[in-house]
Amino acid sequence: MAARQSSFRDSVDRMFTHAAGLMSLAPGLEEKIRVCNSTYTVRFGVRLRGQIHTFTGYRSVHSEHMEPVKGGIRYSLDVNQDEVEALAALMTYKCALVEVPFGGSKGGLCIDPRAWNEDELERITRRFTYELSRRNLISPSQNVPAPDMGTGEREMAWMADAYKRLHPDDINAKACVTGKPRHAGGIDGRVEATGRGVQYALREVFRHDDVMKRAGLEGALAGKRVIVQGLGNVGYHAAQFLSCEDKALVTCVIERDGAILNPQGINIDALRGHIRSTGGIKGFVGGEYRENGLGALEEACDILIPAAIESVIHEGNAERIQAKLIIEAANGPVTADADEILKRRGIVIVPDMYANAGGVTVSYFEWVKNLSQISLGRLERRHEEARARLLIEELERISSDTGTNFELARGFKEAFLTGADELELVRSGLDDTMRESFKKMKEVWMSNPKVEDLRTAGYVVAIRRISNVYNSLGL
Ligand code: NAD
Repeated sequence: MAARQSSFRDSVDRMFTHAAGLMSLAPGLEEKIRVCNSTYTVRFGVRLRGQIHTFTGYRSVHSEHMEPVKGGIRYSLDVNQDEVEALAALMTYKCALVEVPFGGSKGGLCIDPRAWNEDELERITRRFTYELSRRNLISPSQNVPAPDMGTGEREMAWMADAYKRLHPDDINAKACVTGKPRHAGGIDGRVEATGRGVQYALREVFRHDDVMKRAGLEGALAGKRVIVQGLGNVGYHAAQFLSCEDKALVTCVIERDGAILNPQGINIDALRGHIRSTGGIKGFVGGEYRENGLGALEEACDILIPAAIESVIHEGNAERIQAKLIIEAANGPVTADADEILKRRGIVIVPDMYANAGGVTVSYFEWVKNLSQISLGRLERRHEEARARLLIEELERISSDTGTNFELARGFKEAFLTGADELELVRSGLDDTMRESFKKMKEVWMSNPKVEDLRTAGYVVAIRRISNVYNSLGL
């Protein structure tokens, strides 16, 4: 792997400091917002395969200016304190930018989830939950984890159940984690949420001619060449929606074991099926295989979507990136050094704190659903349908009374008469969040000549909101 100039946390801090330097914050406030409030490290043993295995886990709380604090739990051998603190900081800024009322947190367990079977993972996860619960690092009112790399609905269901057993009298226990399966208190649309948010973010970018011009792009998403790195939860959904719904061409997918390239566009579902059955992308017949996956980041394309891990675009390869637009589906895929280079080269970056905020946005909806103990739309749906029916029937009566005999377009009546279900409401709320947050970022970018890019603009919006909270807290 190429040399990296600064750690992930240094990168986040540098980007933050650059933006904060453009603002006039109260003395000492910049430092208060930047620093991570606390990081808890736990080492616990679980007896597995006839011996005790010791695992190391972390939970960082970056900012409690709003509570609960929120952030995913990552299972990976690369998890370390620096990474967890950087991710927790990003959560603070992300929540502020998309106006989700949480502080920032993040957790991780240093483990290769593929090295353990399901029963073993369940025991490890339950034990980790117990350790977090003892320190109030999982709680509906104080700290609410969610899935991240290496974890998903299954792990969240185990965590929710473990928490409930420890707190049987907590009526809000389900709200202690988000990203649960629906039958365990989850919400429709959470699994797809981050990838869906990437799609909505791109659609919003394409609505702004001035931003498109800066990226050297024109026209619609249809036919645009897209490279995706990481076909996991986020990358798969983003690639699937962009190719099937927006008709973009995913010309390259990069995974751990190499890259698949096809200028005609890759069939994402077929590739995912291949990964599931073989464990990697090698041998997939729908494209040309290349062993050097990282090198494929430098292939020509319109849009590059890093959706795997941090620091993959760094000082060593930033000069060779050919994409016109990079949308950071992963957290921290571009280092601070690479960010400078890409900015100089005119490549537009849609920053992580905005681009992948779909996950935390829908997690917020799930948390609200859990606290209110009722699914979204349950009270209104049939009422909405009844009102729509009244209107249609009245129009039909007028039409028949006046002999105008108008006819509604095919499909309109059914669509108009169907009240929104939970998934539609979730998508609508997510779309609104992505559109409005982009506009706020863009407004700051375009109106202040010192703000040179969307990332700095995102930080400025987030820092302003966090500082307003601190100012009214009277610290
Ligand atoms: P995931 O574990 O579902 O998928 C990650 C994918 O990346 C896997 O397919 C893995 O094989 C691949 N990968 C790992 N290392 C790689 C490498 N070096 N090169 C190429 N591919 C590699 O994880 P995810 O939930 O999709 O998360 C991906 C990124 O998105 C992370 O940065 C995460 O923090 C961020 N994110 C996730 C969510 C969420 O809701 N899951 C929300 C916000 C941000």
